[in-house]
Amino acid sequence: MAQISGKDFSRAVEIGRPPNVVKLFPNSQALIVSGKVVDRAMMAKGKAMTIAANGRNYFVIRGALAAAQKANSAIIIEIAKSEGGANAYCAVNYWNIARQVDAACNELGITVPVAIHADHYGIKSDKDIEAAKVEIPTLFEAGITSIAIDASHLPDAQNLLANIALNPFVPKWAGLETEVGEIKGKAGLSTVEEALFLIQGLNANDIFPDWIALNNGTTHGIEASDQGIQVELTAEIHESLASYHLSGAQHGTSGNSSERLRAIAAKTRTTKANVATALQMLSWGLEVNDFGNAQLDEQGNFIKVTDAGVTEEMWPAMVAYADEQGWKGGNYKKLNLPFENKLLGQPVEIRERMCKRVEDFVYTLLTDVFNAADTAPLAIETILQAGSYDLGHKVGRIEDPAQWTEEKIIERGATIVSDKGPEGDFDD
Ligand SMILES: [Zn+2]
Repeated sequence: MAQISGKDFSRAVEIGRPPNVVKLFPNSQALIVSGKVVDRAMMAKGKAMTIAANGRNYFVIRGALAAAQKANSAIIIEIAKSEGGANAYCAVNYWNIARQVDAACNELGITVPVAIHADHYGIKSDKDIEAAKVEIPTLFEAGITSIAIDASHLPDAQNLLANIALNPFVPKWAGLETEVGEIKGKAGLSTVEEALFLIQGLNANDIFPDWIALNNGTTHGIEASDQGIQVELTAEIHESLASYHLSGAQHGTSGNSSERLRAIAAKTRTTKANVATALQMLSWGLEVNDFGNAQLDEQGNFIKVTDAGVTEEMWPAMVAYADEQGWKGGNYKKLNLPFENKLLGQPVEIRERMCKRVEDFVYTLLTDVFNAADTAPLAIETILQAGSYDLGHKVGRIEDPAQWTEEKIIERGATIVSDKGPEGDFDD
């Protein structure tokens, strides 16, 4: 296992942490970095992707960090707008996630680089754009180091225009993900034409995302169909974007077979795989299959594993609360906010077993499926070579701005033939 020398680590902490992180955590030994650093480390190893673990509760954050340290892998800890935004269903949110990650890293002696990503910063209307111009700076002021501007709910031209309108509010050094095609399973699969339109339009406007998220067949939450990720479609779209040096961001990873996830890492340009639901279920002590899909009993209820996760008294309390609210299946995610404090108030050995179950699952993913082991030294090398926290963009402007004015964007957007699939709530 390639070791990180103490000298390199200290130097990386000194120069590799972005200014917002240095300001918030002046005396910290946690190597919190831009999302760009993690992306480049995976590219340096090749055919490798790391987990972007949605920290729906504190135990998931600790477990994922411990797994990354053990695998010597760079990692991303993230939270989506639906999970931790203004109308959150989790106690972990955009404004406290960096604090929780920094504290856990210092306590646990985590030396691998960690990026903190604002997942699915969703834009569904012009009103959302105006609100975002105020809110996005506050995310970075709170220690976020990477963001997914997700306007994929809007038609193609409006998606592009929203990304352009909000880019001035995202620091140039930060990781940047954009999204084409809302994550909604087999309906509304993304196309090369849609992806090229978004990326060329951004490029012409001096915007160079690190990642693109596609609707490539998965869904958020519990995977209902076994169709899952479309590897060939993903590879084809990534190839069509080769000259823009885009990496892929895989969503809805929970529930996909390890074989398919290995294929995504090996055959596409994906460097980040978002995992949310599976880690939540594991931390609670529920039965999940190898792919992280929660198992249901005959009555369609989750199966609590004895002596794993929360106490045997706590789980029935969570089920009773969910019943009162009329929550079933995927909506159990809404238990995160009302139960975070109750779960933190459990005995230390219970809290530790909740983290350990997440750690073991994430460690297997990183080392056995994602090929992310030993990418931490590559991330540190990237920082030391750049001599800065800001790695710059992977590509320059290739497209002609005159061809991508607002008028031209609306005109061109109208010519794109795409099936956006059914309406509905497909959020994380
Ligand atoms: Zn997602």
